[in-house]
Amino acid sequence: MRTYGHFIGGKHVAGKSGRIADVFQPLDGSVFAKVALASKAEVREAVENAKAAQPAWAATNPQRRARVLMKFLELCARDNEKMAELLAREHGKTIPDAKGDIQRGLEVVEFAIGAPQMMKGEYTEGAGPGIDIYSMRQPLGVCAGITPFNFPAMIPLWKAGPAIAAGNAFVLKPSERDPGVPLMLAELFLEAGLPPGIFNVVNGDKESVDAVLDDPDIKAVGFVGSTSIAEYVYSRGCAAGKRVQCFGGAKNHMIILPDADLDQAADALIGAGYGSAGERCMAISVAVPVGEDTANRLMERLVPRVESLKIGPSTSADADFGPLVTAQALERVRGYVDIGVNEGAKLVVDGRAFRMQGYENGFYMGGCLFDNVTKDMRIYKEEIFGPVLSVVRAKTYAEALGLANDHEYGNGVAIYTRDGDAARDFAAKVEVGMVGINVPIPVPLAYYTFGGWKRSSFGDLNQHGPDAFRFYTKTKTVTSRWPSGIKDGASFVIPTMA
Ligand code: NAD
Repeated sequence: MRTYGHFIGGKHVAGKSGRIADVFQPLDGSVFAKVALASKAEVREAVENAKAAQPAWAATNPQRRARVLMKFLELCARDNEKMAELLAREHGKTIPDAKGDIQRGLEVVEFAIGAPQMMKGEYTEGAGPGIDIYSMRQPLGVCAGITPFNFPAMIPLWKAGPAIAAGNAFVLKPSERDPGVPLMLAELFLEAGLPPGIFNVVNGDKESVDAVLDDPDIKAVGFVGSTSIAEYVYSRGCAAGKRVQCFGGAKNHMIILPDADLDQAADALIGAGYGSAGERCMAISVAVPVGEDTANRLMERLVPRVESLKIGPSTSADADFGPLVTAQALERVRGYVDIGVNEGAKLVVDGRAFRMQGYENGFYMGGCLFDNVTKDMRIYKEEIFGPVLSVVRAKTYAEALGLANDHEYGNGVAIYTRDGDAARDFAAKVEVGMVGINVPIPVPLAYYTFGGWKRSSFGDLNQHGPDAFRFYTKTKTVTSRWPSGIKDGASFVIPTMA
């Protein structure tokens, strides 16, 4: 059985800490591989390699840096099938969904190829007598990414693509649950011509995360994961003087107004609620039909769709979704369904007992659908991260809007309606970072930014889009005076333009 180590200085390096974890294959519950968990010293080794390689990379002109990323895209296309298969085996999502995971990551690399444009500064000629002002963007040095299990290709690429394009070196600490694809990305970056040491992978758990957060040579940390860890990483990283952005958990609502096309809304809820077994930070986990009649008509459509969801191993060609990532995740999600039943929500479709024939040890769960969920219930307040959809019936549009606004998370939200006035009002007033109007998973494209509000995000810049270049660069502003012959004597007053 293979044991994943780390990728440091352009080479695979075996783990030295003696600490090892299992990587499971969720489709049958078997141990697929082992992964070494890095010690502080191993994280340090990666940082030293990154630090040594970074100045020459920063001095490489941005077009040449971009060409390496272009080559990387070509290589990812060549190895797409292999990468998707590995991703599906370690994560549990279906192969088409794994391809989407890779593709959304590569789209940010495509955007990062615009580094020569994104890195351009500003220039003011003649700001004063003989005075010109210009600004430049410079890389930070060594940056790090700490990423979750649920998008093992996409999120590492969201972090590393713009960071590298901007001239930084990068240390990635991916999820220890599916480390295979991040290591494959490291090999492909090297093959594409990225100098050794510019993209490093250290596998590990809390110990390696803490080493990243405390390392004085890491200047910026981008984190994605659950809210409690996001908050921890943000405060510890900021206390160490780093630039930090952390993206956390979610509870995404879909509001369905009485005039909506309910077949379209039900289809959207099925895809966005149960795709990837609900293990997406932009999954819809709460449906809010407005009015009893809308709720009843929606339930009529939802119930048969949830009952007929096709669950299967990640390798099956026609599965809607596959197993959950680990046995613990399965237990946790089933536990939430038990909690919902005890809290008095009406479990209309119960997927807890689902077992996959021929794959009895896999981490499968059927789709669950709750009706009559109320806002004081834990199943409404907390992120479940599984194939469980809660229906909260609202009497009015104002009540539905209030639900989304009062929730502690504010990652994504959607509204289904044919009423343009209502949709416009909703987009303006909702306290959520990413809004879909008749679009269930409004993940912005690479050239816009991605980020939630409230406790879904800590820090003030978003991921990808122009914010990524702001996050991974620092601005320097130069005020210069030429010709050199100007002599106006010493001045003891602060210069102004008065
Ligand atoms: P997680 O918080 O368990 O892990 C994220 C990262 O933190 C991993 O690299 C992990 O090794 C590390 N980590 C775990 N425990 C730690 C600890 N005690 N101290 C320091 N580091 C620790 O998250 P996950 O289960 O891998 O991913 C699912 C979560 O990620 C969900 O909450 C989901 O909503 C969220 N997510 C958010 C976004 C977003 O953009 N907002 C995107 C994807 C996933």
